Amino acid sequence: MTTAATSLSRDSGAPSVGFVGWRGMVGSVLMQRMQDEDDFRFINPVFFSTSNAGGAAPSFADGSSKLEDAYDVDTLAKLKIIVTAQGGDYTAEVYPKLRDAGWGGLWIDAASTLRMEKDSIIVLDPVNRDVIDTGLARGVKDFIGGNCTVSCMLMGLGGLFRNGLVEWGTSMTYQAASGGGARHMRELLNQFGAIHGSVAPNLEDPASAILDIDRSVLAQQRNPAMDSSQFGVPLAGSLIPWVDADLGNGQSKEEWKTGAETNKILGLDLADGAQIPFDGLCIRIGAMRSHSQALTLKLTEDLPVQEIEQIIDQDNEWATVIPNTKEASIERLTPVAATGTLEIPVGRIRKLEMGPEYISAFTVGDQLLWGAAEPLRRMLLIATGNL
Ligand code: NAP
Repeated sequence: MTTAATSLSRDSGAPSVGFVGWRGMVGSVLMQRMQDEDDFRFINPVFFSTSNAGGAAPSFADGSSKLEDAYDVDTLAKLKIIVTAQGGDYTAEVYPKLRDAGWGGLWIDAASTLRMEKDSIIVLDPVNRDVIDTGLARGVKDFIGGNCTVSCMLMGLGGLFRNGLVEWGTSMTYQAASGGGARHMRELLNQFGAIHGSVAPNLEDPASAILDIDRSVLAQQRNPAMDSSQFGVPLAGSLIPWVDADLGNGQSKEEWKTGAETNKILGLDLADGAQIPFDGLCIRIGAMRSHSQALTLKLTEDLPVQEIEQIIDQDNEWATVIPNTKEASIERLTPVAATGTLEIPVGRIRKLEMGPEYISAFTVGDQLLWGAAEPLRRMLLIATGNL
């Protein structure tokens, strides 16, 4: 271990990279992936905190021994690259100060704040490596991870989009609690625990009436004493048909991101008339991790299902077609099956009654991997010339 000062100034040839938000949900998964792939060998890491500056830095990477203050612009400005998974409020507060101070380093961010800025690129390199490389060559400095459902959708169905086969699409999402962060996951588990606790003796007794159990569960869910401070309403045993801010036009911000970010990632946002209309409803469910989505696509041509499957399967090494059978779907197309893996299973592919160009698909992906941490770690590798 070296001290922070040494780490910031040592000349090992490896760039100094600051990490903010490394202990949150996205940050923890990012740290785990970087350890798994031995990425820390390419960089000198410096760890920051918004809540515990001066505390001990994590021991898993050889870098500074104490946590730096994530609001200290002078310390941040010494770094070549900053990777943040701290959140949008942090980005909104610190990023402008850094740029105003003349900092010219690379900003790699999981938050949505800068995603749609004209000078930023949304990173998802298996889908848009060309956009990233062109951006780096022309001096772009802000590389932002995409919305989790959009990134997972494009990792799964990118082949259809990139071959110009999608006329329009709609997605209905089933988003996990972890999309909200570490505290939301804890809240969901506490709610499950409280609900179970309220009926545990009745459950033990096979003769107890199911309607009594049902009534007790509902009473517990509606009990104002049950903590729902993160989600605002109970999620365990229920769902929440709204994700992210209310844009005031009937659409949630999460739903707006679907079309806006899909087109930006594909590089279609700037060309007149090239945009693919994409919209849908975003729903929070009580899954722990991995976002799922049911898709309806209108294709530009009537292709056989087998050909559609081939295009999806061959687009990148992580998209995997799941046969449209009950057995394969319930085994391999669920959050439980997808969590912790980089695979993006795509199933339920079939022609719909509306006509031969209309298809359904269902995909699920660990949104903390391809939807958050993985594009960031790969962007760091690209920026340091290691991918
Ligand atoms: P998070 O888990 O809430 O972590 C954010 C920060 O909260 C941490 O870095 C930590 O900062 C602080 N924190 C406070 N209490 C904590 C606790 N008990 N455990 C861990 N951290 C705690 O947020 P996140 O889900 O990682 O999201 C970070 C950003 O990524 C957001 O902008 C989000 O929109 C975006 N994003 C999230 C996902 C997802 O699936 N979750 C996907 C794509 C993008 P200090 O260490 O400085 O206190």
